[in-house]
Amino acid sequence: MPWTLAARWIFPVSGPPISDGILTIVGERIVSVEPAGRRTADIDLGDVAILPGFVNAHTHLDLSGLRGQCLPCADFTGWLRQVIAHRRSTTPGQIESAVRVGLAESLRHGTTLLGDIAAGGASWPILVKAPLRSVVFYEMLGLTKERAEQSWEATRIWLKTHLPTNCCRPGLSPHAPYSVRAELFARAARLGRDWQCPMAVHLAESREEWELLHHHCGPFVAFLKNLGVWDEDGLASSENSIMSLCGQHIPTLFVHCNYVTPSVDVPQHSTIVYCPRTHSAFGHAPHPFRHFLQRGVRVALGTDSLASNPDLSMLAEVRHLHRQCPDVPGAVLLRMATLSGAEALGWAEETGSLETGKSADLVVVPLAPGISCDPYQRLFDSDLPVQRVLCRGHWLMPFAVESQSP
Ligand SMILES: [Zn+2]
Repeated sequence: MPWTLAARWIFPVSGPPISDGILTIVGERIVSVEPAGRRTADIDLGDVAILPGFVNAHTHLDLSGLRGQCLPCADFTGWLRQVIAHRRSTTPGQIESAVRVGLAESLRHGTTLLGDIAAGGASWPILVKAPLRSVVFYEMLGLTKERAEQSWEATRIWLKTHLPTNCCRPGLSPHAPYSVRAELFARAARLGRDWQCPMAVHLAESREEWELLHHHCGPFVAFLKNLGVWDEDGLASSENSIMSLCGQHIPTLFVHCNYVTPSVDVPQHSTIVYCPRTHSAFGHAPHPFRHFLQRGVRVALGTDSLASNPDLSMLAEVRHLHRQCPDVPGAVLLRMATLSGAEALGWAEETGSLETGKSADLVVVPLAPGISCDPYQRLFDSDLPVQRVLCRGHWLMPFAVESQSP
């Protein structure tokens, strides 16, 4: 049985906002998105916006226990030390509950597709049973030959034992230029190509990383020596070389890219993932995302983890970016938080926009009162939280609201 939702504004993202729109759902699918008048609404939500479910293209749910524990600061390697100390002191049970906390928080804030980087693939058993869609990126680490070899073997075994399901797919994440040798980036990319799974790589996150890569000096040298994992010969030669090692084989999410030159050669089908609030919290130089957008390079948004962000709300990320960059059109910002992330993660056929045939993944956000005619302004110039979340045709929040069929 079809059922319908009406709202003051519907933002399909694949097209312009629809004033007084009606969205019709059958089972898990959207069957139409249109202006009011052609059908009667089963549920009239009133002065609200209906948006596609958010896509968080970059997070680490297994670090959810770190909320407020190690605040971002100017000393990047000092902050990393705290994250590593936390990882080494947590039990598998604590990691599992951290993932559950992060998942519940993501759902509450309206995320219906997640790109999660997981040490040891820890979030897979939970995300595979979750109502939302996800890509679990298995984290690969190894700057020394020995560690790279171990990581490579472990990854191959993990891929063989974690096959895609209808809502959860495996991905690979060679971690970062300071923790992965050039050769391992190349091998990971070939593995990604063979298994047809996306990759996510942290790249150019800090000035310290740039110093390490280009001059083999700076705080990362002592940091890696202290950990016993320093191998100068393993370092890739530049951000460009990492982009081409990875992106030539498989669509890759290059996460952060705070310190790449805007003219860097981003491989076709790859994506820059920008984490606005984490970026601001570390006090980085302004992010070059506008340059990438101008060049036609896809840019998606992520929250990063609770080790560097107060919550996992994608709406808060977009609003933060809107306040920082009021010149960027609202439609561009909303796309970065939804459809661009779905394209990056390989799920755009199913989700990321409100279109006929796609999964009924949506959020309902109250609009700020006011006289503005600009629906994006009413959505972004506000702190009103996500009110309802529908994922694959089922209400996740609030739980047990009114009947889904007439
Ligand atoms: Zn990260």
